[in-house]
Amino acid sequence: MTVLRIRGVGLPDGETIDLYADGDRWTTEPAPGAELVADGWILPGLVDVHTHPGAAKPGDPLDEKVLRDDLRLQVATGVTLIRSPGLAGEPPEWFGRDPDVPRAVHAGPWLARHGAFFDGWGRRAEPAELPELAAAQAGRTGWAKIIADWTLESEPLSFATLRAVVERVHAVGGRLAVHSQHLAGGTAAVDAGVDSVEHGMGLDPAALDRMVANRVAFTPTLSVLQTGLARALARPESPTRTWYVGGASAHPALVAAAAEAGVTVLAGTDSRPHGGIATEVRALAAAGVPAHTALGAASWVARDFLGLPGLVDGAPADAVVYARDPRTHLEELDHPQAVILRGVLI
Ligand SMILES: [Zn+2]
Repeated sequence: MTVLRIRGVGLPDGETIDLYADGDRWTTEPAPGAELVADGWILPGLVDVHTHPGAAKPGDPLDEKVLRDDLRLQVATGVTLIRSPGLAGEPPEWFGRDPDVPRAVHAGPWLARHGAFFDGWGRRAEPAELPELAAAQAGRTGWAKIIADWTLESEPLSFATLRAVVERVHAVGGRLAVHSQHLAGGTAAVDAGVDSVEHGMGLDPAALDRMVANRVAFTPTLSVLQTGLARALARPESPTRTWYVGGASAHPALVAAAAEAGVTVLAGTDSRPHGGIATEVRALAAAGVPAHTALGAASWVARDFLGLPGLVDGAPADAVVYARDPRTHLEELDHPQAVILRGVLI
């Protein structure tokens, strides 16, 4: 088999790199007869940190055909790694492994208190049961995902509950992602030191410094909240509309302030059709996040957050290559010159 070679400007460093795929491993050791497949601006693959492939709509069970189709759409746009903070069921053996699907990190089914999530999805428990359930899940896959708050009517999880969950999950070497779209739940999650706040709508900007101090990452899912905002604005007045419009309207400035404060911002799409990570990067940049940071949120920063190295000797052989610098030409993200996954040109 011909060895694949890429060359160009590697990000984030901006240094010239010349890499050869030795199976699923990058090496700087030249291989005779290697085939140069791309020469341009190189990222270590894109990452979608918040995506729920495999179910056509909320509440549907996991469907293997939908799952594969969703994942193929991701790879086609240059995504070589995903994190699924919540899946509609236990994924099949091939998830994260087959040649046509990205590497994957997942938290199994969502964990939520009774009445506080989409009907048909996730596991329900009393708050007191959540620490053990989350630790068991994180022990299996490395991550657990908890719904800290839901509607205006449902009671958010308390700081004490979230802190107990964090302690148990960290004790088994796992990490915890927490869904929040309200001030109280988000504040409790930040103060409890969860590993990532998902959405974070309604967070007090005063919490951003505590996110840095507690090493809480932030996946703002900005583009999907902006779509939700447009829908909410078309609805008649109600307390739910007021809450959503207020939170989603404040979200772009919150995200920009988070990046400025030094919070680890991560790019996640949370939406169908899959493969929309470029839209999220552009939404982050439009909100005022510097383009380099917005791109890192969907690539090297996210990859590092999930435990994979970038474009270095010995790293897993993933890359996406563009003809021009995608930081100054964000539209390039729609036109990768080449996508390499596990050392193979897609
Ligand atoms: Zn989600």
